[in-house]
Amino acid sequence: TDPNPLVSRQWKVKDTEIDLGNGIKISRDDFTIVAGPCAIESEEQVITIVEFLKQQGIQLMRGGIFKPRSSPYSFRGLGIDGLKLFSNHCKANSIKVVTEVMQVSQIDEMYPYTDIFQVGTRNMQNFNLLDALGKVDKPVLLKRGMSATLSELLSSAEYIFSSGNEKIILCERGIRTFEKEYRNTLDLNAIPYLKDKSHLPVFCDPSHGVGVRDYVENMALASVMAGADGVLLEIHKTPEKALSDGHQTLNFDESKKAFKNIRQLVELR
Ligand code: PEP
Ligand code: MN
Repeated sequence: TDPNPLVSRQWKVKDTEIDLGNGIKISRDDFTIVAGPCAIESEEQVITIVEFLKQQGIQLMRGGIFKPRSSPYSFRGLGIDGLKLFSNHCKANSIKVVTEVMQVSQIDEMYPYTDIFQVGTRNMQNFNLLDALGKVDKPVLLKRGMSATLSELLSSAEYIFSSGNEKIILCERGIRTFEKEYRNTLDLNAIPYLKDKSHLPVFCDPSHGVGVRDYVENMALASVMAGADGVLLEIHKTPEKALSDGHQTLNFDESKKAFKNIRQLVELR
């Protein structure tokens, strides 16, 4: 028998759809583009990006306020004050907020300002966090651990589902392999596999998946053809000045081109 029955097709034959309100729906019949900076850095930055997303017809913005950084000396995010200003500008423009939660104690303070709780690669097996998010009535974007198997990813989704929250999005974001020429190895195989095995929507994050700005669009397009139901893209007006992940972040011209090509490809597939 399946070790993760609830997130598998055994439990549910029909694909899961997540309704975010305002006519925004995450499902296998729609394609969702989530774009925004790696980290929320300032109110000015948020205003600029919200404006750009609005122009581009993008309805979900990503941006970290609690940043899991490899070095303790790197920028670790603006915290809850950053989330408040992020949320204010998004709400005023009918854009949904996607942001990472790192620990259980942050959930309550984040709740009023968050539309989708992101669980990062480093927390995929933070089982207390998964249990706690199972009690929340908002969607969870669950990223694959950088060294996690797909079965482990599904077990983590099973934690959330079995605790009561069925609104889960799985996200492939690249894994660690012997290859060192780019940040991670985007495991595109995961996309058709997860879509076959599970009824949950499957997103792809090519920004972290490859980690090189010039390759991000192509990998986003590849993920579309692999069957992804959405992509997460890091964008910034001036990536070279970004406080985190600038090397893999698209500027506005690059973003426009990527959005256009992604949308065209989605129509063709
Ligand atoms: C992020 O989305 O900025 C992030 C930290 O992602 P990951 O957990 O996949 O590294
Ligand atoms: Mn990032």
